[in-house]
Amino acid sequence: MASTPESTGDADESTNTSEEPESALETARRQLQHAAAELDIDPNIVERLKHPKKVHEVTVPIERENGDVEVYTGYRAQHDSVRGPFKGGLRYHPDVDREECVGLGMWMTWKCAVMDIPFGGAKGGIAVNPKDLTEAETEQLTRRFTDEIRSAIGPTTDIPAPDMGTDPQTMAWLMDAYSMQEGETIPGVVTGKPPIVGGSEGRDSAPGRSVAIVAREAIDYYDMDLSETSIAVQGFGSVGSNAATLLDDWGANVVAVSDVNGGIYDPDGLDTGAIPAHDEEPEAVLTHEAPETVTNDELLELDVDVVIPAAIGNVLTADNADDVAADLVIEGANGPTTSAASAIFAERGIPVIPDILANAGGVTVSYFEWLQDINRRAWSLERVNDELETEMLDAWGEVRGEFEARDVTWRDAAYIVALSRIADAHDARGLWP
Ligand code: GLU
Repeated sequence: MASTPESTGDADESTNTSEEPESALETARRQLQHAAAELDIDPNIVERLKHPKKVHEVTVPIERENGDVEVYTGYRAQHDSVRGPFKGGLRYHPDVDREECVGLGMWMTWKCAVMDIPFGGAKGGIAVNPKDLTEAETEQLTRRFTDEIRSAIGPTTDIPAPDMGTDPQTMAWLMDAYSMQEGETIPGVVTGKPPIVGGSEGRDSAPGRSVAIVAREAIDYYDMDLSETSIAVQGFGSVGSNAATLLDDWGANVVAVSDVNGGIYDPDGLDTGAIPAHDEEPEAVLTHEAPETVTNDELLELDVDVVIPAAIGNVLTADNADDVAADLVIEGANGPTTSAASAIFAERGIPVIPDILANAGGVTVSYFEWLQDINRRAWSLERVNDELETEMLDAWGEVRGEFEARDVTWRDAAYIVALSRIADAHDARGLWP
């Protein structure tokens, strides 16, 4: 999908009602432009923010177990570092390409800024289906990729983390490969590691926890009672399963969950704690006893109070936004709502709490992990969760302030908070030379 600044930069979110598939980069630029229009920001800074600082593209050859050499392409897109080192996940997925990494890297810049953590934004990955590789091959791929991007990453320059298709083990291999070449153990080069090698307690569950915290606050804001709120969650990976079980623990009625195979629905509420997450048991959702099964599309249109898309991007589109029955959408995944669907929700008065706020618990606990690595001192799970709660409530409060003051959407309010911080930092630092 080709994208140019011209084709995306000046478009208005509210006028894009076509259902052209939109790349992450197009969406990111469109949202940037939309928020910038609300603020008195130097257009030159907006122009700079439409482009990544640098994109690394590397060739990653590995020898498969059958003796054949397979060559993969890896990327690391570094968007902006005005507020601190580049930060963002590494994705192993067949759709990974340069443009997707740039778009997702931009989202990380906004996400870190909305949380007011001192990082910029980056994203990377390898165009590969990790399910096609053995564990040993994935390790080899990760080590070779790490070496190819070694000069671009580091604990004060660019700090990767898990994303789709990667996990704490991937991060441990990355940390090891990097450290071996540097001649010393450098845990701060990557976050989302297993705690035994410098990972933070609570990092795995953090994105889902932040989704649950933000959902709880939004439910309260709209005068709904959590104990009487019905919720459907699409996706039962790390984000969806943690969000669903926490909201269930806090008294909400989680009536539907799904994974890539489909979903289950019980209007009386599911016992989400009894369903293992997709990564632990891929067949768990559909084999769990429930009165009805639903497809992933049907789940989004269920008659519930809150819907949480927490699986993949672009699932709420112009084709189904009119059929969403929920009163509130909380974005657990990155980019689940297309611009056209956002416009329809705005028109219908359905609030959408954006990804860059709702799932920002992941990168926030990554920041805690980085602090722990630098200080060589681990925090307890209780401390991590307490500090995450504080950070989420602060960010929620800031975004709510803009939402109320400017009469904009929640997404615009979050972008306004993020963009003003980034623009002020650019303004203070200036353009060199
Ligand atoms: N991949 C995660 C995200 O999209 C986390 C990034 C990080 O922790 O650096 O927010």
